[in-house]
Amino acid sequence: AAPASLDFIREMIAADVAAQRNDGWVITRFPPEPNGYLHIGHAKSICLNFGLSLENAPKARCHLRFDDTNPTKEEVEYVDSIQEDVKWLGFDWGDHLFYASDYFEKLYGFAVQLIEKGLAYVDDQTPEEMRATRGTLTSPGTASPYRDRSPAENLDLFARMRAGEFEEGSRVLRAKIDMASPNMNMRDPAIYRILRAHHHRTGDAWCIYPMYDYAHPLSDALEGITHSLCTLEFEHHRPLYEWLIANVSGLPGQPYQREFARLNLTNTVMSKRKLLRLVKEGLVNGWDDPRMPTISGIRRRGYTPSAIRTFCKTIGLTKYPSLTELTLLEHCVREDLNKHAQRVYGVIRPIKVVLTNYPEGQVEHVELVNNPENEADGKRQVPLSRELFIDADDFMETPIQGFHRLVPGGEVRLKYAFCIICQEVIKDEAGNIVELRCTYDDATRHGVKPVGRPKVKGTIHWVSAAHALDVEVRLYDKLFLDEQPEEAAGEDGDFTQLISPQSLEVVTAKLEPSVAEAKPGTHYQFERVGYFYTDPKDSLPGKPVFNRTVALKDGFVK
Ligand code: ATP
Ligand code: MG
Ligand code: MG
Repeated sequence: AAPASLDFIREMIAADVAAQRNDGWVITRFPPEPNGYLHIGHAKSICLNFGLSLENAPKARCHLRFDDTNPTKEEVEYVDSIQEDVKWLGFDWGDHLFYASDYFEKLYGFAVQLIEKGLAYVDDQTPEEMRATRGTLTSPGTASPYRDRSPAENLDLFARMRAGEFEEGSRVLRAKIDMASPNMNMRDPAIYRILRAHHHRTGDAWCIYPMYDYAHPLSDALEGITHSLCTLEFEHHRPLYEWLIANVSGLPGQPYQREFARLNLTNTVMSKRKLLRLVKEGLVNGWDDPRMPTISGIRRRGYTPSAIRTFCKTIGLTKYPSLTELTLLEHCVREDLNKHAQRVYGVIRPIKVVLTNYPEGQVEHVELVNNPENEADGKRQVPLSRELFIDADDFMETPIQGFHRLVPGGEVRLKYAFCIICQEVIKDEAGNIVELRCTYDDATRHGVKPVGRPKVKGTIHWVSAAHALDVEVRLYDKLFLDEQPEEAAGEDGDFTQLISPQSLEVVTAKLEPSVAEAKPGTHYQFERVGYFYTDPKDSLPGKPVFNRTVALKDGFVK
């Protein structure tokens, strides 16, 4: 028996394996339509399907199948990006890469078979007529006047549809099931349509294309898929799936379909149609904009494959729709980066500090640990001198309660160096703070608290001004401040109006000199600030650009 901790899908599969269904094989597939880039929701399906194949090895595998039956929206660019993204997530389909379009001839043959069995017919009604005769949830549909055409007539018409004799939209092939079914998908659904569209793989070989609901189950069967796992919106399509598997003869496999709830994430939109709009309308900088929930976007932002896999494991699988907090994903990212991101000192919004009692021209080096989580990462020397930068957030002229960092007349510890006291605040004519004049206390090095002195509560990071690098840092934040942007926009509203103006802020930060040679695609923790990633596209040798992956903590840092 399956352990109690298994989700309902794994429980079901464990039972099938135990019963030796399909000889104990578990063959799953991830079936994207190549009409856009993959997003974090797809990652849930990828982790499930490829995960099952790893868990059930050696009698298991997972196919990557492009469900490319809708030529007007599909492109090779998407096919390529999808493969790159699945690999990046850490999964491997081996030799099992398939395209539904490879089955077009076989699928056509199955349709001929259904016609011969009297289970499919060519309908000449207009799309409007078909819609009007479908009936409603409470009333049955009306049979098409063409429903009782003979198999011979249907075979002839279907062959001529394929030969290109008819106008686009003038005829469809429908499965002959039940116009009174309570399930609308069973009221003689269209299974082939005429579409004069160039296909990215089959070119102009076809002018009729199978409908998704027809092609999908039969493709599963052709590949020997045992478990066809999809999201809940396909639950009402399951009877059609089963009808096709039962009524087409000669299928090499007998797959069945089960549904799980899709991932919905707060503060973003996820459907490809909406993501496409953001890209096409230039509201983001492409599919891989680090604010996008696409795999390519979060990769460029600095999320890691293992963090995403952990996230997918954490959210689990349910049969009921739910909304997952973006903060959970961010938590998984922090946990993972904490283990391997190299630490550096970086000041995002610099204020200059002058140590008035520190000798001019003197430079000392402080030895800092590269990663307290991994001793093997070693140590580095960071210069310290009379003029420094600290973060504007670490100083308050009129401190709020509980603020333990630098304040006028107050004392703070410069991390791994010594304590300083703010003696004077220098402002420009407009009243902006331009410099803090401070004194340092040599007796406080190495964490020492001289006897009789009050305890210094705050510790802040710093960068030597003379040695600091000016570096472009892109501070990414939630794309939408609303948890559910589509709902917030309302029926007639436009979610794109709700894009957060704070979703991207570009600053010039002051970073410690060791990052000058930072390679593109490296993770860092700017101590006390957050995790940052050297942008793989825009970083140049000696001139890295950093993307904020995620802040160290939510909200106020004491
Ligand atoms: P979208 O609705 O976002 O445009 P889709 O479902 O049309 O996506 P497909 O390319 O058909 O995109 O998806 C491939 C697989 O990924 C399908 O099996 C689908 O059920 C699954 N999938 C898509 N979105 C999610 C999601 N948010 N959570 C879990 N699985 C998803
Ligand atoms: Mg789809
Ligand atoms: Mg879709």
